[in-house]
Amino acid sequence: MASERQIHVGSVPVGGGAPVAVQTMTKTETANLQATMDQIRRVADAGADIVRCAVPREQDVEALKTIVAQSPIPIIADIHFNHTLALKAIEAGAHCVRLNPGNIGGPDKVAEVVAKAREYGTPLRVGVNSGSLPKHLRELEYSDPVEALVTAATETVELMERLDFTDFKISMKSTSVPNTIASNRRLSQRIPYPLHLGVTEAGTKYTGSLKSAVGLGALLADGIGDTIRISLSTFHAEEEVKVAWEILKALKLRERGPVLIACPTCGRLQFDMDSVVAEVEQRLEAYEDAIEVSILGCAVNGIGEARHADFGITGAKDRGMIYSKGEPLKKVATENLVDELFLEIDRYYAAGKTIVRDEAAAAEAAAWLAEEEDATAMTPERLAALEAEKAREEADALDLREPLVDETSSPVAGRRFTRA
Ligand code: SF4
Repeated sequence: MASERQIHVGSVPVGGGAPVAVQTMTKTETANLQATMDQIRRVADAGADIVRCAVPREQDVEALKTIVAQSPIPIIADIHFNHTLALKAIEAGAHCVRLNPGNIGGPDKVAEVVAKAREYGTPLRVGVNSGSLPKHLRELEYSDPVEALVTAATETVELMERLDFTDFKISMKSTSVPNTIASNRRLSQRIPYPLHLGVTEAGTKYTGSLKSAVGLGALLADGIGDTIRISLSTFHAEEEVKVAWEILKALKLRERGPVLIACPTCGRLQFDMDSVVAEVEQRLEAYEDAIEVSILGCAVNGIGEARHADFGITGAKDRGMIYSKGEPLKKVATENLVDELFLEIDRYYAAGKTIVRDEAAAAEAAAWLAEEEDATAMTPERLAALEAEKAREEADALDLREPLVDETSSPVAGRRFTRA
């Protein structure tokens, strides 16, 4: 269930139906102003809405004043153990302070921070971590770790409410993907406050991205989560931002820049598609629009699978074709495919987002496609389509509601079409 409440971290709305905000965290020593500001600018360029900086020392609070003043995006001060630093971070102008009430020195210290946050109008991110649950929940943690996490989070919410403070979002961090999914589902049913999502210590760029995509993707697809952070073991925080965006784009929750579609290739491929995909991906970075560009390794399925793409390439041994919205535009030599694709894309923008079609070139491309596309080739897709059509015919003839092909008894039994 989406959160009902909304808070503002600087100018960024979080929760209450606002777009899911992308967060990351600087990996520099915060007191190193130059390095921290460089990284903040890089993550902002990559699309971070909010960035968090660790504030474990006095000199970090000092640097925070300048960082807040110079940062192009809101800053969250990340504080553990030392509530005095939280107070100072609020005074330094942090747009939000993150703390775990469980490790900040008791309810009185939390109350002090809350009072200061209220005075300055600073929201808080309060959280619980599976690695540091309160003692009274240890037994529950063994029998039901998800309920232990949710109980800890609910108790934190109740503490905030007792202090009459509602300007906060909440997070529950776990290294377990299933526990992240289950606990956030459960908590979202119980509280109206915005949720920050993340799989903590997710791992390297490869494993961490996958774990985060699975965990956060499952929740976001259900409308749960108001802000996300992808935790990756890399110094380059902008990589976390890129992964976060890919998750949001894949779920069509937000748009940012072009969407590249590329087939996985197979034994039908007859040109160096990997380098074409890499070049197209790199050149698309210069475009801000959410145009969809598709690259198919061959024409065996026509361009049907990429019919919705704004622009696309389908390649072959020495010739390929550029198309738009399923319609051929031109046939070109394979080595010119990428340049010609971008020529067409730029022409489209120059004409005010209108496809500029040369009818003769389009007709030539359509003829080439008809030759390339071997209508007799029994691809898995065609076999499946033929089977389905035949089964439908038989069902209609017998006036049955369901086709006769029984996929569960055997994937091959009763097949009428073969590739031989
Ligand atoms: S588009 Fe062609 S090359 Fe790419 S996976 Fe499909 S059949 Fe293979």
